[in-house]
Amino acid sequence: METKIIAVVGAGPAGMMAAIKAGELDQNVILIEKNPQVGKKLLLSGKGRCNLTNACDLESFISKFSQGGQFLRNPFSKFFNLDLMKFFEKRGLKLKTERQLRVFPLSNRSGTVLEVLKKELIRTNVKIMFKTQMKDMLLQDNKIKGLILVNERVLPCDKLILATGGISYPFTGSTGEGLDIARRLGHRIIALRPGLVPLETRQQYPRLLKGLTLKNIRLKFSDGKRNIISEIGELLFTEFGISGPLVLTLSGKIVDWLKEGKNVYADIDLKPALSKEQLDARLLREFRLNPKKTIKNTLKNLLPSSLINVFLDIVEIDPGKSVSQITQGERESLVLLLKGLRLNIIKSRPIEEAMITQGGVSLKDINPRTMESRLIKGLYFAGEIIDVDADTGGFNLQAAFSTGYLAGESAALS
Ligand SMILES: Cc1cc2nc3c(=O)[nH]c(=O)nc-3n(C[C@H](O)[C@H](O)[C@H](O)COP(=O)(O)OP(=O)(O)OC[C@H]3O[C@@H](n4cnc5c(N)ncnc54)[C@H](O)[C@@H]3O)c2cc1C
Repeated sequence: METKIIAVVGAGPAGMMAAIKAGELDQNVILIEKNPQVGKKLLLSGKGRCNLTNACDLESFISKFSQGGQFLRNPFSKFFNLDLMKFFEKRGLKLKTERQLRVFPLSNRSGTVLEVLKKELIRTNVKIMFKTQMKDMLLQDNKIKGLILVNERVLPCDKLILATGGISYPFTGSTGEGLDIARRLGHRIIALRPGLVPLETRQQYPRLLKGLTLKNIRLKFSDGKRNIISEIGELLFTEFGISGPLVLTLSGKIVDWLKEGKNVYADIDLKPALSKEQLDARLLREFRLNPKKTIKNTLKNLLPSSLINVFLDIVEIDPGKSVSQITQGERESLVLLLKGLRLNIIKSRPIEEAMITQGGVSLKDINPRTMESRLIKGLYFAGEIIDVDADTGGFNLQAAFSTGYLAGESAALS
């Protein structure tokens, strides 16, 4: 096999894996990164613990992608979750599988994942150029000839792998220049939208509850008449509204509905295991057992303390009122609120605060067997720059590693 110069732009998980694979196949690989370090976003991933993949089977894995699941069948057939886990374990990184089959390093530190990648970049002789930013590509007859840096310097290369990420968390370096270049070269770019993003509410009380997590609640999104989605999980109150795994997972759909101009309501069922009748009976029982107790103290058996005042404020009941004085109407209001604490969703937080970017280089312009552009010969795409996005759980990083692996291999072997 002849040795080619392969330039990889972007040292995130996709670019690093592409460079490692091409380097392993004895190519002359240059990895170009505008930051003074590699893997800045990877370090933040999984709240600093890096949920690097998910151990579920292929079909379940693909079903977690809102976009691009079918496209990924080929990259996954080359390098999937067990391959990725083996890759790290063979290099001394111990892994563990947590609930919902999320895979993390045993160390609970994303830095240990990055260390393995850094060592592999050295072992495979990848030359890294830090603080180096790509501005454009050099083409001849629709074929890659090199890349142009922001300082106008030209770096000749035979193949170019673009792995510059999306546009969320821009301080990590993902600012969308790669997408602009791809667009200029004629690739279709599917509209960029925030994915896995917190939601803002009209009501101000989530701000008072900032930091409070509600576990095992049912969250129901609707347009006021029809239920749109309803799932059980964990919700977090934030300064602007709501977040947490359940909200992030459902947020992609909500973003699209808000864009269509729909009213969106989130109803929180705080006691999904109990019917209204069962809850009413439980309240009555508690009221009869301790009639002199205040409603505030009685609710401590049902709700987190920090939620009680907000809750009683909404139903307009004095927290100091003894339960013997609570009227039937007030009890009914309490039950209704426990089964449906309503929030109006006004918008999502901006794309900069989204965990991933939905949209990107259209899959129609990429060959899934090689990750090569269908428009420019010798140009490959990998990672979040392409129109692929999934739920939380390790799916996005696996997609970045798998597409990076395939792009690196294809560029080396073509
Ligand atoms: C807070 C947070 C937590 C996350 N946690 C998880 C998780 O636990 N599990 C999971 O699966 N996913 C997680 N994700 C998503 C995951 O991190 C991304 O999908 C993944 O990093 C995408 O990899 P990438 O290599 O395509 O792009 P990026 O990681 O964005 O890397 C792109 C790189 O390209 C560089 N670059 C950009 N433009 C240029 C240029 N012109 N010249 C040179 N270099 C350039 C950037 O500096 C950057 O280093 C998380 C995301 C965030 C924001």
